[in-house]
Amino acid sequence: NLTKRLEQVATYVPQGAIVADIGSDHAYLPVYLKQKGQIEAAIAGEVVKGPYESAVSSVKEAGLTKDIEVRLGDGLQVIEAKDGVSCVTICGMGGELIASILEAGKKGGHITGQERLVLQANVAEHLVRKWLVANNYQIIAEEILEDNHRIYEIIVAEQVAEAVVYSELEIQHGVFLTKEKPALARAKWLGLIQKNQYVLDQLAKSSTPQVEKMKKVQQEMDMLKGLL
Ligand code: SAM
Repeated sequence: NLTKRLEQVATYVPQGAIVADIGSDHAYLPVYLKQKGQIEAAIAGEVVKGPYESAVSSVKEAGLTKDIEVRLGDGLQVIEAKDGVSCVTICGMGGELIASILEAGKKGGHITGQERLVLQANVAEHLVRKWLVANNYQIIAEEILEDNHRIYEIIVAEQVAEAVVYSELEIQHGVFLTKEKPALARAKWLGLIQKNQYVLDQLAKSSTPQVEKMKKVQQEMDMLKGLL
């Protein structure tokens, strides 16, 4: 059984896609997608031997070795143009790692820009948006969800000819999320406000003046308060 988190990720994978799931661990996502008949084929990439072997076993147990190829390698290096990948999923990692995987993949020519990207960062989603924006991607969907008492975000993007301009607020806190303001996003922002307030209180108590830092935290907090 797939987690609610990955089940939601799966809804953004187009019907008939050829998927590259990077950091696939047990290859649960590609196996689920293929069993549902949602995708044509998949490549499951893993950089660590243990998870790579788990992925190999899962695919074998599911009887899907013809449809899902498990490859050992760093990030997007496991794919090349001739694989015809139409959708890349990178889930369950920090935003910084996801952005660095995308950057290395772009530089190495492992992604063409034609692929739909379905990204689920556990933290630092803004770094994912920053990379997307800098590389002419349009964010076409966002979702926030709770699974097993944790809040997760999903970002879906496709490359466009002309760069889309996003505000700092949208990059930091979401393009759709800041418009639609779902309850979970509000809860997350409220938590951030409390965290920032705590940081401010600590800074105010500091024996050395922290004017610049306090200004920055205050600005961030004002941005968040404006969202609620
Ligand atoms: N994608 C699955 C999910 O969302 O449930 C697994 C997430 S798991 C927390 C992260 C996986 O990414 C680990 O199995 C790790 O080995 C793998 N990973 C980390 N860095 C990677 C990289 N540069 N290239 C490929 N896989 C990587």
